[in-house]
Amino acid sequence: MEKTLVLIKPDAFDKHYSGDIIKRYEQEGFRIVAMKLLKMDERLASIHYAEHIGRPYYQDLVGFMTSGPLIAMVLEGENAIARVREINGKTNPAEAAEGTIRKQFAASGRRNAVHASDSPASAKREISIFFSECEIYDGTYEIMG
Ligand code: ADP
Ligand code: MG
Repeated sequence: MEKTLVLIKPDAFDKHYSGDIIKRYEQEGFRIVAMKLLKMDERLASIHYAEHIGRPYYQDLVGFMTSGPLIAMVLEGENAIARVREINGKTNPAEAAEGTIRKQFAASGRRNAVHASDSPASAKREISIFFSECEIYDGTYEIMG
């Protein structure tokens, strides 16, 4: 079982797509093991997107990511890191395959609806930025009663 960090970005949140996006991940068999709504500030953006600092689109990216609420979640499932990236589709929705979240819900290469970790190292780093250990469910799923 693998865990990955997903963000529903402010554009998708603003268009009321959050429920559809969450539903899609659940339909694909992933379990939500952590979730919260938050507003990213410039400091959080600089930590999460550290590798993008200095790129020509960085200020634009930070402006966008801090422009409204986002939903952060940890999804768990087999091969979750690669599979969620596949379900999300390519960064630019014009290049994203049919049936991907970005093809369906993203407006542009910047306002592209979702983020997902791109490697086991990124997933570990990114999950720890948004969630403390006690906010991540790690128990069993045998529901009582
Ligand atoms: P991904 O989110 O698919 O992993 P990247 O890590 O390359 O993509 O980029 C991070 C985010 O930065 C993208 O999702 C997008 O919101 C933004 N971004 C990337 N490239 C550009 C660009 N050329 N112009 C504007 N925004 C960009
Ligand atoms: Mg990336």
